[in-house]
Amino acid sequence: MVEIQLTNTRSRSKERLVPIDPQNLRMYLCGPTVYDRAHLGNARPVVVFDVLYRLLRHVHGARHVTYVRNFTDVDDKINAAALARQQQGDPRPLEELIRERTEETIGWYHADMDALGALRPDHEPRATDYIPQMIAMIEDLVAKGHAYAAEGHVLFDVRSFPDYGQLSGRSVDDMIAGARVEIAPFKRDPMDFVLWKPSDAELPGWDSPWGRGRPGWHIECSAMSEALLGRSFDIHGGGIDLQFPHHENEIAQSCCAHPHDEFARIWLHNEMLQVEGRKMSKSLGNFFTVRDLLDQGIPGEVIRFVFLMTHYRKPMDWTADKAREAEAVLRNWHIFSENVQPADEPDSIVVDALADDLNTSAALTRLHALLKEAMDAGSGTFSELRRKFLASARLMGLLLPGSEEWTKPSKVQAEIRETLSALGIALQQHRRAKNYDRADAIRNQLLDLGVKVQLQGTDCSFSWITPHNPSEAQQLLEEIKAITLEEK
Ligand code: AMP
Ligand code: ZN
Repeated sequence: MVEIQLTNTRSRSKERLVPIDPQNLRMYLCGPTVYDRAHLGNARPVVVFDVLYRLLRHVHGARHVTYVRNFTDVDDKINAAALARQQQGDPRPLEELIRERTEETIGWYHADMDALGALRPDHEPRATDYIPQMIAMIEDLVAKGHAYAAEGHVLFDVRSFPDYGQLSGRSVDDMIAGARVEIAPFKRDPMDFVLWKPSDAELPGWDSPWGRGRPGWHIECSAMSEALLGRSFDIHGGGIDLQFPHHENEIAQSCCAHPHDEFARIWLHNEMLQVEGRKMSKSLGNFFTVRDLLDQGIPGEVIRFVFLMTHYRKPMDWTADKAREAEAVLRNWHIFSENVQPADEPDSIVVDALADDLNTSAALTRLHALLKEAMDAGSGTFSELRRKFLASARLMGLLLPGSEEWTKPSKVQAEIRETLSALGIALQQHRRAKNYDRADAIRNQLLDLGVKVQLQGTDCSFSWITPHNPSEAQQLLEEIKAITLEEK
């Protein structure tokens, strides 16, 4: 069996993945807080862990892998988004507005991540469905002396867990110096973090031994991972920004609640995504969502390819140049694998590259080499290599069935072409009937839409640029159709 090596943040070295239960390899990834569209950075962990999920399924068998990614659907940012709607005059109760907002955002998230070719995890728990488990865990932590209630809050007592900070390799005092910790009079130590907080009558809340309130963010993942994966599982992942405090706090909660279990064996973190060399931020004007790119006509597969060009442990830079390069490569690859049946087994060098701490860029290099090898080979080997190539690309979530659609002219593009050609015939008829005013009017109307008309004898041809954005393309089609209708 292929040996998988992964860099464990905790040991800061590559470790062999030895499944706790070979029949059920278990992985948890911290998912999004569902108050808005996913930005491009949020998509990076999704793609990285999708490649790992595909690799695990390949090596261990799809039935022997369980992947969980949560939705954080209780959060102050969600409340704020719903409150803003109320202030804008929406008369509905906050609860309904929150429900609508989280449902809508989860729908967007699914659509956007599907477009990147990411498989849906086996379980996608919503935090609000696991409140009783969170309350039980907090009660257990209080009973064991690791947490205390104060003024309607329950706080985790960081000094009660000597290993706190081990994941980041830092002491509590170092972390205090570097962190923006919230000072509150009811905290015993500034590093103590919230497990439960009170909700006023307006905000979402649940009854608990400490009054009506809501959970802190960190306890959500500890409770949901235990409920769905058990007290010890194989891999826990997320962006490197989650290492501290979120993951340190998850470890503190889970290991203090269950001191005889492992919690997560390997901690895997992806580095951050930047845009054109700069941190993505709203104030720099380089902040965009996955949907923004898809709407500009950049296919999800192209976004995925650009991500795979950089190793997950290195910062990655999204650039327009890389997207163009990826698009050109993928167009070629789609032509190369058209009407090909994938081989049963992917190329072993591709598998080995991925098994070596997800070396996706080496895997892509190998795919380029396979293609070249196939082109230089005799016909028998050519088909065999093509089939291997396709199976290997699919292991990385590329060239998936149906993904070639974006390389073909779209339905709208084809319809624009047809409508124009009908209009061309009408235009020539007007000219033959010496109805020059009408012919010129059509030409000018088209010119206003950015469509140039060339007339040569009885020939009529058009040149135009179909907008990348599907809704703009649709609008162009409607406007051309409106001219056609005037003809009838
Ligand atoms: P959030 O909804 O902010 O908790 O983020 C969801 C996921 O996206 C987490 O795993 C984050 O670590 C990850 N993430 C957020 N920003 C970036 C970024 N710029 N690059 C890579 N990953 C990110
Ligand atoms: Zn988490």
